[in-house]
Amino acid sequence: MSTHSPLWHPQTHMPTAGRDRLVIASGDGAWVTTEDGQRLLDLPAGLWHANIGHGRTRIADVAAAQIRTLETYHLFGAHANRPALDLAERLAGLLPIEDPRIFLTSGGSDSIDTACKLARRYWQVAGRPGKKVILSRDGAYHGLHGFGTSIAGLDFNRDGYGTESLVPETARVPRSDLAETAAVIERIGADAIAAIVAEPVIGTGGVYAPPDGYLAGLRELARQNDILFIADEVITGFGRTGEWFACQRWDIEPDMIVMAKGITSGYLPLGAVGIAPHVAEPFFTGAEAPIFRHGLTYSGHATACAVALENLNILDEEDLVARAAKLEPVLAQALAPLVDSPSVQEVRTAGLMAGVQLKPEVDAGKVVLGARENGVLTRLLAGNTLHICPPFVITAEEIEYAAGVLAGQLQAPATVSA
Ligand code: PMP
Repeated sequence: MSTHSPLWHPQTHMPTAGRDRLVIASGDGAWVTTEDGQRLLDLPAGLWHANIGHGRTRIADVAAAQIRTLETYHLFGAHANRPALDLAERLAGLLPIEDPRIFLTSGGSDSIDTACKLARRYWQVAGRPGKKVILSRDGAYHGLHGFGTSIAGLDFNRDGYGTESLVPETARVPRSDLAETAAVIERIGADAIAAIVAEPVIGTGGVYAPPDGYLAGLRELARQNDILFIADEVITGFGRTGEWFACQRWDIEPDMIVMAKGITSGYLPLGAVGIAPHVAEPFFTGAEAPIFRHGLTYSGHATACAVALENLNILDEEDLVARAAKLEPVLAQALAPLVDSPSVQEVRTAGLMAGVQLKPEVDAGKVVLGARENGVLTRLLAGNTLHICPPFVITAEEIEYAAGVLAGQLQAPATVSA
């Protein structure tokens, strides 16, 4: 395999990536195949995106038909395209927000920037321009655009870009300590805070489910302080926790909900923000209504929206959200024994996602390579944690197979570096 390529990999130590590059050539269901023919069980579902699994020809057909008809037409001004209108309608019926408005983007980071800008603009229009601070949680990942970088809860994603000046007026709260979060709000002053952004289940930070009562408590704290609650469901949306949205599982209604990944299961890039009517209303009512000066060429890309609609059809027809719910205990039970391995610190599961946290002294890179040699693809999240978040079409047997391979790797003394 060629080691020399001009390709610069995102988020990657290039000298190592150049040596170990793994070229994925095709996919079917929960499996992918490398360029040199090795089949691998795709435990991370790519980057948490492949909810319906790889290789769906129905989606390819829809995309081809749409491109033949009209690749896309933008949504600026009074222009629209039919798939974007249909998708907005479909999402409005699914979201845990009553009668939402839908703003379409090209991905998760776009949607985070959209939601944060809208939060600030909303308070300005509402006559409270001082409310600008965006809060986020320790360990959070909200993409890597401007806002996402500034509100990153993982320091390594924030440092080096002018932490305080990239997007000024951001602040962090603890991962799940409500009393300390209330104290931070008190210290900054609710009059200066626009919004809090939260992943219902922290993903890239290592897979942390919300402790009992935490999300409802945070939502309430936001409400009491006139702080908009933005749920980042880029990972958890579209079935990952066994409900269409994690906000439904934990019974909260956000002011905005941020989506990407599972909206198309990755077949094309697309993101969206669902916006509660009380936030959207000032922009929709009256001749004097202000314009939300924000948008992307590919906001509502017609082919991406057509693909999203077909992805939703497949989730519906194959009852895949219920399948994810059924597989949750299978995954949890299969992984639970790993905690007895001397290499493992903790096993955390939430819905059909899990993090197997290895002890700091364990060479996790070797575990990943060893698993790969045995047909199981995984990668590392923050904190030496193995990333597990399979496509919903994975079977119980495949989950057990993967757990067995990981158990074998974690027993091997070679995984502990000197
Ligand atoms: N929010 C969360 C919770 C994410 O996990 C991600 C991507 N992993 C993003 C936002 C950013 O999405 P994208 O990479 O599509 O910009």
